[in-house]
Order: sequence, then structure tokens, then C-alpha cells
Amino acid sequence: MPAELIDGKALAKKVRAEVKTRAEAFEAKHGRQPGLHVVLVGEDPASQVYVRNKERAAGKVGIAGDVHRLPADTGQQKLEALVAELNARDDIDGILVQLPLPEHLDAQPVLDLIDPGKDVDGLHPVNAGFLTAGREGLRPCTPSGCMRMLEEVGVDPKGKRAVVVGRSALVGKPIAMMLLEKHATVTVAHSRTADLAAVIGESDIVVAAVGRMGLVKGEWLKDGAVVIDVGINRGDDGKLHGDVEFEAAKERAAHITPVPGGVGPMTIAMLLSNTVTAAERRVG
Ligand code: NAP
Repeated sequence: MPAELIDGKALAKKVRAEVKTRAEAFEAKHGRQPGLHVVLVGEDPASQVYVRNKERAAGKVGIAGDVHRLPADTGQQKLEALVAELNARDDIDGILVQLPLPEHLDAQPVLDLIDPGKDVDGLHPVNAGFLTAGREGLRPCTPSGCMRMLEEVGVDPKGKRAVVVGRSALVGKPIAMMLLEKHATVTVAHSRTADLAAVIGESDIVVAAVGRMGLVKGEWLKDGAVVIDVGINRGDDGKLHGDVEFEAAKERAAHITPVPGGVGPMTIAMLLSNTVTAAERRVG
């Protein structure tokens, strides 16, 4: 039987509605909206689209905010000074520095400077440490979105074999930690993994976060596997595709996320959720 699609658009809408309710409750109690500020340096067209989408989505759920658009030749010091200024402002709960930064800038010190309590991207080493330690912190948006998708279709990772293909600090590693926290037996595969097909073949949950179109073959999947495809790849057909061979995979899987319309929409929804969480925690 073909897999059930996990509809990221519909779930993101549901998450945004929940966030709106929480944002309104926050405003009613504290007399201001939760605040999200985005820093965008340069003219990268994809980043401009992402930032515009975040700005729009935030406005619709009752999150106040601003986008700080800096010229491409902005210096390291000026950028770091802006982050410090946003850290100090009481009305700002979330700070996001849109990546990638222009080549002359060093992203790491800028990200490390963000107040961990306002780090709504969940990339600060303090938040990464909290996640690893199984403690409360702000968690990366895409991995949180993946976990929410599993929850939504009633897949409990407990006792299941899971593989995460990809080990980036942004996606692969945090998803692996989150699956582990939910008691899955987790394998993390990467470019040096010897027999990816075999590892995938014994997994009940497959998360692909690589960035290579069709890397995960449908025939590798265990019957009834749950497939979360994080990859975004532009095909020769001009369309977006995931890392998983979708057509073949959906014949074997029990649940699968499409690309587009799967994990992608969840990322912004979880960013909004993190912003309200940060606001709630900051006021105690
Ligand atoms: P990344 O930093 O480039 O990491 C890619 C990972 O894939 C690395 O760990 C790499 O292994 C591994 N890899 C490369 N080739 C492989 C192979 N042949 N077999 C197994 N593993 C292989 O990428 P990322 O930032 O994690 O993003 C991954 C994908 O997710 C991209 O397509 C990105 O666009 C997408 N993404 C989507 C969203 C969303 O909202 N949907 C958000 C973020 C990212 P090594 O470590 O050994 O090099």
C-alpha cells in the first residue's frame, strides 16, 4: 500500500495557529508582543526570500519584529556590535542572523555572541550543549519540525531503529540527539558510511539530511519505514526534490514527507514557536 504523506504545509498551519494563541496570551499578560529580529547582510537572493517569508509569517501570528538589512560590505565589528545591541534590548526575545554571511565575514563568532536565551535558531553552543545533555534550551528549528511530524502521525521512536543520514550541526546531529532522547536506537550515517543501503534497510525511521537528490533509493527501505526527507535539491527539471527517491520510496514506506511541502514549511513554524518560547522564558 502506498505510503501516507506527511503534509508539512497543513501541520505548519496548525503549529502557527498554536503559536498565535500563545503569542496573544503573552501580549495580554505582558503588554507587548514577543519580538523577533532578523539580521540580513548583503543581497543573496535566496536569503532575501527566506527573510521576507519569516517576516511575513511572524507578523501573522502576532510576533513583532524587524529586519536589519546591512550592506554586503559590512565589517565584522559592525555586525557584532549590532548583535550586542539586540542582545541588550528588553523588547527583543529572538535574534536570527541569516546565513550564509558574505565571505569576508566569520559567522561563528557572530552566532556565538547571540544571547543563548534569544538564540531562536538553536545553534549557539550553549543550546547545542543543553540538547546533548537532555536539558531544556532552544532547539534547532528544522530538527524540531521533523520530530513534530513524527509525533503528528503517531510514530513513537521508542525502541525503534532510526538512521539519520547526514551529521551537520544544523540538522543531522540535533535530529539524532532528539531521536535518542525519545528512546530510538540511532545510527548516524555520513559520507564515509560503508554500506548505507544496509544501514537504511534495517531502520524503522529514516531521516535524510544530505543535499543529494535521490541518494536514498526506495528499494533500500524496510517495508513500513517512516521517511523524513529534509534534503532540498534543485533538479534538472527546475523543480525541488529531496534526498530520497520519492516515487519508489512511497511504495515501501508507511509514512513519507514530500519535497516540497514536507519538512520545509515546518522550519519557519518552529522558528515562530521558538520565539514565543524564548519570550515566555525571558519573563519567567
Ligand atoms: P551539510 O552541512 O552539507 O551536511 C550534509 C551531510 O551529508 C554531511 O554530514 C555529509 O557527510 C553527508 N553526506 C554527503 N554525502 C553523503 C553520502 N554520499 N552519503 C551519506 N552522507 C553524505 O548539509 P545540511 O545543512 O545538514 O543540509 C542537508 C540538506 O537539508 C540540504 O539539502 C539542505 O538544503 C537541507 N535543509 C533543509 C531544511 C528545510 O527546512 N527543509 C533546513 C536545513 C537544511 P560528511 O559529514 O561526512 O561530509
